[in-house]
Amino acid sequence: MEGLKNNQKGKILVVDDIPVNIQLMQKYLSPAGYEILFARNGEEALVEVENGKPDLVLLDVMMPKMDGFETCRILKNNDKTKYIPIIMVTALNEIEDKVKGIEAGADDFITKPFNKLELLARTKSLLRIKRLHDQLQEKVFQLEQAKERLRELAVKDGLTGLYNHRYFKRFLTQEIKRARRHKSQVSLIMMDIDHFKNYNDTYGHLAGDEVLRNVAKLMTGNIRGIDVAARYGGEEFVIVLPQTNKNAAKIVAEKLRILVGDQKFQNEDTQPNGKITISIGVATFPENATNLEELIHQADQRLYHAKSLGRNCVVDEG
Ligand code: GH3
Ligand code: MG
Ligand code: MG
Repeated sequence: MEGLKNNQKGKILVVDDIPVNIQLMQKYLSPAGYEILFARNGEEALVEVENGKPDLVLLDVMMPKMDGFETCRILKNNDKTKYIPIIMVTALNEIEDKVKGIEAGADDFITKPFNKLELLARTKSLLRIKRLHDQLQEKVFQLEQAKERLRELAVKDGLTGLYNHRYFKRFLTQEIKRARRHKSQVSLIMMDIDHFKNYNDTYGHLAGDEVLRNVAKLMTGNIRGIDVAARYGGEEFVIVLPQTNKNAAKIVAEKLRILVGDQKFQNEDTQPNGKITISIGVATFPENATNLEELIHQADQRLYHAKSLGRNCVVDEG
């Protein structure tokens, strides 16, 4: 993230149509450690602000075409540039100019011929505020990121990146409500890795975790954007398919079963089936259940049935 850091002096854009004025400013400011950018008129200044991202602008009032007031107004009306402090450099100590400058959004004034110490003091003071502002922005940004991360942690499973059990329940509850309202359907796929204890006991938990992650990846890669894949528990997964009838859900389930069977997992040949496979139960609301608990129970029963049929298969009937 950009912004003025504690260890940085700052970048100052000097805007003046008279080169000798720019030179003088530079002579005063450069030795103090500031990086100097310059522009000879209002239009150039706007470009330079965009490209150079200065921390402060020293803006001459009297310039041809777009004068300092207009330039100031544009910078202060733009969300991206409005926090850059602007010091207006006026020729005379005219009250009228100052009022106009304040109305345009200027943060401070210096009158020509300017005094070096005053220039340095006002510059330093506004850069201090700019630095605090930038640090605050950085903190706000970090906080937003942390909040986003927390929001994600609350609904996701750490190992697989799939949604967690809690989110699954919430989502399915909503989808059942929606299906009731619209007289549509929602299907639930429940799957479990076959003989997974065997794999874990032989190759260890870390190798098992890798299998879980790979199965999860196959799931997320082969469902629609509106479907929700979640880790139900240990080596059991679920997929909620909104607005999906039994037949369509069964096709998804078969596809996943085949994909997992075809996927090459490390050391899978020692599994009882000669490979990692999954068993799947499919149930649909309202065809097979009248509420959330029943739907889950039905999918679970069918999964259990698939296990009893010898595993590596899909059961979609009760
Ligand atoms: P079945 O075909 O009947 O499902 O047999 P199974 O061995 O898969 O079933 P069982 O429920 O007996 O064992 C599940 C195993 O899944 C137990 C444990 O070793 C493993 N397991 C559960 N959660 C995790 C996990 O988070 N990571 C790893 N690596 N293994 C897990
Ligand atoms: Mg299992
Ligand atoms: Mg299990």
